[in-house]
Amino acid sequence: MHHSSNVLRDFVTHLMECDGALVERIDPLGIEFIAPDRLSKSLGLPEQGRLGFGWQIPENAQRVSFESDWLDRLEEVLGQRGRTLRTALNIQGPPPAFPERLAERSLGLQNAVFRVLRVVPAWTCYRLLTFRYSALSDEKRDGIAILGFNLSNGSPLDDVLDPLLTAVASQERQSQCGEANGQFPAFLPAERLAMLGTRGLSLRIRRRLAPFLTSLQRRLDRDLAQVYDYYNGLSREFQSCGRKPPAEPERERLRLEAVAREHRAKVADLQQKYALKIAVEWVQTLELSLPVHRVELLLKRRKGERRFHLDWNSAARRLEQPLCEATFTAESGRMMCDDALHLVSLAAHAGCAQCGRPYCRACHSGTCPKCGSQSWAA
Ligand SMILES: [Zn+2]
Ligand SMILES: [Zn+2]
Repeated sequence: MHHSSNVLRDFVTHLMECDGALVERIDPLGIEFIAPDRLSKSLGLPEQGRLGFGWQIPENAQRVSFESDWLDRLEEVLGQRGRTLRTALNIQGPPPAFPERLAERSLGLQNAVFRVLRVVPAWTCYRLLTFRYSALSDEKRDGIAILGFNLSNGSPLDDVLDPLLTAVASQERQSQCGEANGQFPAFLPAERLAMLGTRGLSLRIRRRLAPFLTSLQRRLDRDLAQVYDYYNGLSREFQSCGRKPPAEPERERLRLEAVAREHRAKVADLQQKYALKIAVEWVQTLELSLPVHRVELLLKRRKGERRFHLDWNSAARRLEQPLCEATFTAESGRMMCDDALHLVSLAAHAGCAQCGRPYCRACHSGTCPKCGSQSWAA
């Protein structure tokens, strides 16, 4: 609580200063301000005064908290600012000590070999896209998903994200400047990057929602079973009454039909109750340039060779993962395809669900080259 109040105070201070206010910190956990007319109006404040952010607030201060309408007021003042940002992260660290071992673990190659050619200092650019998602069914879940990748080789950044964002947040504010405009050269054409990104985002949101989806399915199965038992019991009752030739066969038939109809309607109700809608909204793009130690590699599959690299991230002290050129998953383990030497995840090189033949989903985008069926299943 104390930490989040501090974050809120820092944010409000920074926002008000950017819009021309004079702000001074006071205890306990508050600020004293003089704000220009426009800012004070849009925040619904007097031209000068005090704000408090903690459990205890300074004398004569207005309380600001996450639970109040203050988030709406701040959003109004913030507008589109901060939606796209480009900044440099100046972190220095020694190169990795055992690049071969790290590369072996990170690549997780199942059907190919590799050699480390050299480790060199380099600069790279990361693109971090933040999305807000909400899943709505009989209950609601929402959250934030961040999709990050290294623009020089497509490495997903899931494993380095937390230390990376901590490093960005703790760095001096003055070096954060400039708008991201997508001018960094990417290793993939923009269209393909967008396709992989969309797939990667949906994988990550699904993973975050997995417990919710499982419980949704469990509740649906439970309710369907109850409904089934009830109507099945009803129609059995009618049928056992009907062991003796029914006095009015036509009426019996109509009653059974009515039970079946009601059952179908109940099932349709349940389907509607548990239908899931997931809405995803883009919130922010951050482009980050930073120095890395580049591990240059030669990958070999049968007679084919491919040069590739993985970057060592000094903030996380980790060698990044290779991308999967079909799914952009963060799961480890990679196969190389024979035709184009694509690096793909195990699921993206699995056997076709129809005919069993393994094939590369980056080459054939999910359509089996042997039998033509659409499949991703392992
Ligand atoms: Zn391929
Ligand atoms: Zn097939």
